[in-house]
Amino acid sequence: MDVTTPSKTIDVHLLSLLACPRDRAELYLDGQQLCCPHGHKYPIVDGVPVLLLAEIEQTIGIAKASLNAAETGIGHPLYVDSLGLSDEQRRGVERDWTAGAEIDAAVSYLVGATSGWGYVDLVGRLKTYPIPDIPVEKGNGDLLLDVGSNWGRWSVSAARKGWRVIGIDPSLGALLAAQRAFSGKGLDMGFICGDARFLPLKNDLFLRAFSYSVFQHFSETDAKMAIAELGRVLRKGGRAKIQMANKGGLRSTYTRTRRDYMNSGLFRVRYWSLTSLRETFEQNIGPTAVTAEAFGGLGLLAEDLRLVSAKARLLIRISTLLKSLSSYVRSFVRYADSVYVVSTKR
Ligand SMILES: [Zn+2]
Repeated sequence: MDVTTPSKTIDVHLLSLLACPRDRAELYLDGQQLCCPHGHKYPIVDGVPVLLLAEIEQTIGIAKASLNAAETGIGHPLYVDSLGLSDEQRRGVERDWTAGAEIDAAVSYLVGATSGWGYVDLVGRLKTYPIPDIPVEKGNGDLLLDVGSNWGRWSVSAARKGWRVIGIDPSLGALLAAQRAFSGKGLDMGFICGDARFLPLKNDLFLRAFSYSVFQHFSETDAKMAIAELGRVLRKGGRAKIQMANKGGLRSTYTRTRRDYMNSGLFRVRYWSLTSLRETFEQNIGPTAVTAEAFGGLGLLAEDLRLVSAKARLLIRISTLLKSLSSYVRSFVRYADSVYVVSTKR
């Protein structure tokens, strides 16, 4: 693949929201990079600022690949090394890209990787972008933060509902794929390559924050840091809705008693008790409620019913039924495997 030169410009509105992830000082554009008054410098790749911290242990390996890509420019414009895919899938992305597939080649492969085994059959075979319905009300041009936005499925849904979306993710390749797939479609979205524990954003900006299948993979320490950061960037009265895995859930109780449980593939899931979830979110953000997201498994969405395997379809149907029951019987939430923690900033 040709090594082309990435563009170093950045949208002025996106720039106005940013702060140095190391000291939270204001960032300004100095030539082709972002700088803070204390001498920290950050590259921009095709409009996406790369605000990861090189000196810390990353939550996920692809962050290192993103830093490398931003520093050297090698692999532009796909940066397949930062996509978190297997070697074979990376070759698939490059092959489909060269062939000029209608669906962005990187997105096509990331869809399989974002949701585990139920979606594997779809890799490289998508006809349209599978955009789920984000469980957030209609926006009015206010800011919504999508943490772990990856190729942009939730960001697109939120933008279609009228939110001004900022998506943050450690995968530069996935963010650039989102930009390629959805720019010029009238959606108000901006993307940042960064770390949820060190949000490169000013205080008190967002009316909503959303995250799906991201925080559940963090260690307890990392999750607490990231939740505290949400509390910092939300406006007073702003609300976070974060998907987490519940220790007491039906399937997780069953699977944790076996050695090889279902989500040990790409990266592990950390299960929390509902009590510790409530405590952690209340301490760091404000009043908190927990609602059921799914029963019987993690990461499968009812919207994707037509796309996934028969076994996954059955699980989705059972989950949907239990979920509708749980809206009548509130105590049912304790058996949900996947929950939304909804926390309002005091
Ligand atoms: Zn700084």
